Amino acid sequence: MHWPKLTSDKIKKRIIEALTKNVNYRKTPILGVPATYLDPEVFYDDAPFLNNAPFLSTLIANPNHIGCHTLGGDTEKLFKGTQEIEKELIKLCAEQIFYGNPDAQDGYIASGGTEANIEALWIYRNFFIKQYNAQPNEIALIYSEDSHYSLAKGSNILNINSIKISVEPTNRILNLLELEKKTELAKANGIKHFIVNMNLSTTMFGSVDDIDKVTMLLNRKNINYKLHVDAAFGGFIYPFSNPENSYTFKNPYITSFTIDAHKMLQTPYGTGIFLIRKGYMQYVRTTEAQYVAGTDHTLCGSRSGANAIAVWMVLHNYGSEGWKTKMQTLVDKTTDICYQLDEIGIRYFRNPYLNIIAIHASGISGSVASKYFLVADSYEHEPQWWKIVVMPHITRGSIDSFISDLKSEIKIKQRN
Ligand SMILES: *Cc1c(COP(=O)(O)O)cnc(C)c1O
Repeated sequence: MHWPKLTSDKIKKRIIEALTKNVNYRKTPILGVPATYLDPEVFYDDAPFLNNAPFLSTLIANPNHIGCHTLGGDTEKLFKGTQEIEKELIKLCAEQIFYGNPDAQDGYIASGGTEANIEALWIYRNFFIKQYNAQPNEIALIYSEDSHYSLAKGSNILNINSIKISVEPTNRILNLLELEKKTELAKANGIKHFIVNMNLSTTMFGSVDDIDKVTMLLNRKNINYKLHVDAAFGGFIYPFSNPENSYTFKNPYITSFTIDAHKMLQTPYGTGIFLIRKGYMQYVRTTEAQYVAGTDHTLCGSRSGANAIAVWMVLHNYGSEGWKTKMQTLVDKTTDICYQLDEIGIRYFRNPYLNIIAIHASGISGSVASKYFLVADSYEHEPQWWKIVVMPHITRGSIDSFISDLKSEIKIKQRN
């Protein structure tokens, strides 16, 4: 895994150079597109600080990255400078973070993890329809009960079956026996093709599905499946904190990944990343998108090129080594909190490579949980877990005061 750290001057030069390769609405006669720069009265482009702010300059220039740019061939030419940066970024994520072969993956910057997950389901649904003449009701999506709700949303929109697998309550491990039983039952009921979602960290627990056990089972049962990895939360942390793992493109059973830059990477919302092996984007090509050069293979349509710029800039501000260190610091801070919880005997779940701690509701009152804005596993029924996500804004001071509040609660309990 390697990409360079660049000085802020180099980063700025690269972005400005990309912008000069885009068309400039102020300089070129562009008569045919329903697009232009941002409103000049509200977002004026002669503010002096813009000279040193390549992301904001890109926002104002307002390049549209509509479509998928890694496919090659004919794509929108107006913004090829910044689209080039998006291509570079997809390549970096696919090859340096997830060890894909050179130029063997496609992808784009989606609005978020939700869109990227649904894009994957959409591709595989159409793949089974086209390649196997499947009916939508012969296709099912398999995911754990701890999966993000975007998977339920996606199976609803795409009108495919969904099979939810429970997890062991204390360690959040996927119930393999249930997976086996439910796929057998589904096959008996006429389901022939499966889309499998594996979590490279769930949102609520930071749990990571045991992909090797799952693929072994599916292969042994001769299940026809395509596997997507939802790494929306873990994608920018887990590969760095636990480099020896099966969640890479070297794993032949994985076809696609979702990663959210707008979580761990601290980029603006609108920076979900979708990565997939080459040969699959074609299943969601909307041929009706005739006015877009190269047509459209994405779910969202128009999207700001500034989003790709933001992600590219953050990654190059750190370089792979710097990013690794930054993520390790968060993991270490999380471990520190766990030691303190151990000391006062509070039950929790935590994956050692991630920065989420799910505290068992027996160990914390609702009032302390809400004082620190902990998130409950459910607001529909009595919470069983409250989670802490150790993000970069969390200071030692706020951790200390949280732990001391927990300690006083325990004292009160012991007195009664
Ligand atoms: C956040 C998250 C999503 C959805 O991402 P959005 O960016 O909110 O659309 C999907 N999956 C997981 C595991 C997540 O943590």
